[in-house]
Amino acid sequence: MTERIGIIGGGIVGIALARALAQAGAGDVTVFEKEHRLAAHQTGHNSGVVHAGLYYAEGSLKAQLCVAGRAALRDFCLQKNLPYREVGKLVVAVDESELPALAEIERRSRANGVPGLARINGAARLHEIEPHVTGVAAVHSPHTAVVDFAAITEAMGQDVRAAGGTILLGQEVVAIAVEGGTVRVGTAGTEHVFDRVIACAGLQSDVVARLVGADPSPKILPFRGEYWSLNPARNHLVQGMIYPVPDPGSRSLACTSPAACTTRCTWVPMPSRPSPARATAGSRSP
Ligand SMILES: Cc1cc2nc3c(=O)[nH]c(=O)nc-3n(C[C@H](O)[C@H](O)[C@H](O)COP(=O)(O)OP(=O)(O)OC[C@H]3O[C@@H](n4cnc5c(N)ncnc54)[C@H](O)[C@@H]3O)c2cc1C
Repeated sequence: MTERIGIIGGGIVGIALARALAQAGAGDVTVFEKEHRLAAHQTGHNSGVVHAGLYYAEGSLKAQLCVAGRAALRDFCLQKNLPYREVGKLVVAVDESELPALAEIERRSRANGVPGLARINGAARLHEIEPHVTGVAAVHSPHTAVVDFAAITEAMGQDVRAAGGTILLGQEVVAIAVEGGTVRVGTAGTEHVFDRVIACAGLQSDVVARLVGADPSPKILPFRGEYWSLNPARNHLVQGMIYPVPDPGSRSLACTSPAACTTRCTWVPMPSRPSPARATAGSRSP
């Protein structure tokens, strides 16, 4: 008998998994998504950056998957005619004190095989890439890209359906019961039986885990971050992505994603080190 596979969550993880299983002919795949569209949560609200693998410890699975995933995502976007814009990323040391940390990022990036990586020394060279940035040196990743992850998820969803899978929108899983070799999944008013169920519920993974009686710990805790959009009239001040050298003393990350596929330009402020000290790319407007 064909294996019945249920997947909870229609973000990019659930849909990419459903696509892989359906295309491999692993079984009858059904995705449950509680919202009325795919990618309604993290996937549709992220920064749209295709990371190239700059920060991860060399040899780690994260580093390997990041580099391989970048190439796979690029191929997928090209194949589906979806936007994939290599606007590049500059990690900027604003003063001499940040040079050792910048050197470590460069070392890791090279060990991870980040393509096209270059060390940029001096303000004059920096300004060739980002005319309005302030700093003494940088690491430049020219192939870091921006994409529209919601559009990618939609395209993957079409592949799921084309391969015979089912995507049920507006169907929140509210009950899961493991009985012998099968799993019963309940939504409001419906019940489905599967041989396997895979939870890809993003930031509600802990809630779904509790439905099967899992230990209530660990628990996902919300963490507030804030984004500002650059006034579109100022978009020309930022060419690619500008990041600070990561600071363990800071709780957040400053970044810009200008001219992204959605023409969105976002800033994530660093509470302990205001972002204008990092880059002087025009004024922020809420
Ligand atoms: C602010 C921010 C910025 C980010 N920027 C980037 C970036 O630039 N680049 C990058 O690669 N990554 C980025 N990430 C990380 C990336 O967005 C996530 O890793 C990814 O989207 C996770 O996908 P997911 O499918 O696991 O989760 P989600 O997209 O959150 O999907 C989970 C889905 O499960 C559904 N669900 C939950 N419970 C149930 C239930 N009981 N029944 C049915 N459905 C349910 C939800 O409705 C949701 O649609 C960012 C994350 C955040 C928060």
